[in-house]
Amino acid sequence: MKKHNFSAGPCILPQEVMKKASEAVIELNEIGLSLIEISHRSKDFVDIMEQARSLALELLGLEGKGYKALYLQGGASLEFLMVAYNLLETKAGYVNTGTWSDKAIKEARLVGEVLEIASSKDKNFNYIPRGYMVPNDLDYLHLTSNNTIFGTQIKEFPKTNVPLVCDMSSDIFSRQMDFSQFDLIYAGAQKNMGPAGTTLVVVKEEILGQVSRKVPSMLNYQVHINKDSMFNTPAVFPVYVCMLTLQWLKDMGGIPAIEEINEKKAKLLYSEIDLNPLFNGFAKTEDRSNMNATFTLEDETLKDTFDAMWKESGINGLNGHRSVGGYRASMYNALPLESVGVLVDIMSDLERKA
Ligand SMILES: *Cc1c(COP(=O)(O)O)cnc(C)c1O
Repeated sequence: MKKHNFSAGPCILPQEVMKKASEAVIELNEIGLSLIEISHRSKDFVDIMEQARSLALELLGLEGKGYKALYLQGGASLEFLMVAYNLLETKAGYVNTGTWSDKAIKEARLVGEVLEIASSKDKNFNYIPRGYMVPNDLDYLHLTSNNTIFGTQIKEFPKTNVPLVCDMSSDIFSRQMDFSQFDLIYAGAQKNMGPAGTTLVVVKEEILGQVSRKVPSMLNYQVHINKDSMFNTPAVFPVYVCMLTLQWLKDMGGIPAIEEINEKKAKLLYSEIDLNPLFNGFAKTEDRSNMNATFTLEDETLKDTFDAMWKESGINGLNGHRSVGGYRASMYNALPLESVGVLVDIMSDLERKA
């Protein structure tokens, strides 16, 4: 039986996508060959790559606006470095909202000067900093739209003339926004798009080519753009699954449609967390993430009972990250509302029993 998969990443993908993907591993498009045994230069794969790239731009509303979509390797973690390599000339600003931004800062500091212009470290990253000043002379400002580990999410992005770079690994394609406010967006595939192994980068081409350093080919966005995201052999299987997921999303009505479902899921879970005296939300209410809900038990002695209850109900992946403790329910695009219903029922069952 399929479990209710609340895993933080890698995580749930649409069932029909996984079915199609597994079929393509045996045989792609009735060509008598597997997706993973054909040349990436073959028409069948080139079409897949082109579709994956154009679907990303289409769903984000960025077609014809000077953006290019790339499917690279090395995870979001390599983007921490690549962003700085390609964009950092004198100094960059970073907002530190948790583990992932912290790591992005560390990598960028290998390349140049980095100002941490705001941080929520003082409260173990349970909130999103507000009201900070963005200096006008930054090469770019780096943000993390959703903090996967702590369960916070930026709802309003700073208005600034400085180019905006955003790590959207854990909430890309989950909610509507004006994506054209960003000059570069990146996201590891393994949360809302596909299996681990590829990273979507969406970059406004005009911001490239302005640094004086020599950028190694594999780290150079322009090199990847010039080669249509095929400078080296792309991760063919992950790119194919991303393409299927984006097609699935488009067919259901795109980001507006999934956002509505995501809001329902989040509302259902957070209202249980707020109403049930046995549970406490970790993140500050106005900064709560619709993707990752973090919460703890009021009474730790109920842990074994609660853990046994959710495991018996077919729930997977609810344990919190070690830096927060407690629980984390990740509700990515492919998680059905019904799974959240199962979790909420168990939480209220626990209240009845306790
Ligand atoms: C998961 C995650 C990462 C790390 O991605 P990798 O592909 O493992 O490098 C980075 N940033 C955020 C916000 C994440 O959720």
